[in-house]
Amino acid sequence: MGWRKKNEPDYPFVVDDLTSERLGPDGLKDLTVHLWPHECQTCGRPFNGTRAALRVEVGAYVATADLHHPDCCAPRWDDAPGPSSTAATVNFVATTVLLPIIGEQSGAEALRPFLLVNPGLEQVILAEFDEGWRVATTNYYAQYGLTGGGSVLRIDHTVPDAIAHLGEDHTVTVRLGDLRAGWTGDCGPEITAVVRELGGIVVAVSTAIHPALDSIVADFADAISHGQVAGGWVPLS
Ligand SMILES: [Zn+2]
Repeated sequence: MGWRKKNEPDYPFVVDDLTSERLGPDGLKDLTVHLWPHECQTCGRPFNGTRAALRVEVGAYVATADLHHPDCCAPRWDDAPGPSSTAATVNFVATTVLLPIIGEQSGAEALRPFLLVNPGLEQVILAEFDEGWRVATTNYYAQYGLTGGGSVLRIDHTVPDAIAHLGEDHTVTVRLGDLRAGWTGDCGPEITAVVRELGGIVVAVSTAIHPALDSIVADFADAISHGQVAGGWVPLS
């Protein structure tokens, strides 16, 4: 994974004039933090260095921004998209880590297991706020009981209806209530033992992180401080 987009001088995506006008500079900048050009959402093939085209669809219930090869889908803003115009599968990335946590009451340090999830590399949910269109990942996952958006992640809050499951092949899977998809991450023997001992794992969801990058722990802390992480405690089923 050689790309890290936050500090790129040039805008990394191809954008049409209408999208540029509707999003404004801050909305465009927000997307550079939250979209990761892994695979084209029309053909499913990697970008391999091709600059991705940005498509925004504002439907009746949800607005999305996603990435395509410019030859597969020209950059555009659609106010009334047809049903299911995205053909390829959005990729998620999940990884497990043990992180030291300071207890609020005791002040003592303890290790907690985390499943860090980017639920959609190439597609994000947008919402229109007072300041304009912004990525709304944390708002979206609030409906599944994850909390976040402040500069602190509340990891002891149990996510209602969510369950975690340890697989025999050293994996952990987290499922959230009505969300049909589950996220699975590799989980070595050390983390497996801690999850089993504590009876659960913290799930932390953010589109501002790429859990497969070596810099993930620092990136995760940075994303929390910017209110870009939603999470909570998920008990073992
Ligand atoms: Zn394509």
